[in-house]
Amino acid sequence: MPFLRGLKQSGHLLAVNDSSMKKRITAHDLTFETLIDSGEISAKVEAIGRQISEDYQGERPLFLCVLNGSFIFAADLVRASACECEVAFIRLASYDGTESTGKVKTVLGLDVPVKGRHVIVVEDIIDSGETMRHFLSDLKKMEPASIKLAVLLLKPEALKYPMEVDYLCFEIEDKFVVGYGLDYDGLCRNLPDIYQLAES
Ligand code: 5GP
Ligand code: MG
Repeated sequence: MPFLRGLKQSGHLLAVNDSSMKKRITAHDLTFETLIDSGEISAKVEAIGRQISEDYQGERPLFLCVLNGSFIFAADLVRASACECEVAFIRLASYDGTESTGKVKTVLGLDVPVKGRHVIVVEDIIDSGETMRHFLSDLKKMEPASIKLAVLLLKPEALKYPMEVDYLCFEIEDKFVVGYGLDYDGLCRNLPDIYQLAES
């Protein structure tokens, strides 16, 4: 494996750092160590899925999954939710706007009507909150019956805008993370655990 030096060639077992018992991997030029293991992730996602099933009894929510980062979280979350539901996918594209706010996000590929629907937005991570702020304001213009936010990771220290997350898996410190769908320059999305940038 040229890009994940800690990965054993035979399978998915990762090298263990003996001193901390944390698994370490290298992707491109950076080293990461485990922050949340796959068992903890699935327990939390299962619990949130059950909560959503209870909250939406008798409804047919529309899970709106924000690609690319949320694809694994979304796949697990929708299977953990027993309610009747629909699933749709969008991408957010950013461009340099003419407004002083700078970057503006636009919605790409939304091919289902949202008007009157109970929408659950599924997002991988909220950092500054800028992406969600723009997206939610666009989404509200489409007149859904309700909007709730299901988010895998939130970095409270990095938030620039107040953000109410209805279903949150984990709060983390303000460090770059990869794995479970999240990438570093294209790599690491397939890792079952979540890794944080290592100190050294
Ligand atoms: P925000 O607009 O909230 O600052 O950033 C949101 C987007 O930035 C996320 O949807 C994600 O794509 C990316 N992002 C923010 N923090 C991280 C991180 O720690 N790791 C990775 N892989 N992406 C991140
Ligand atoms: Mg994202």
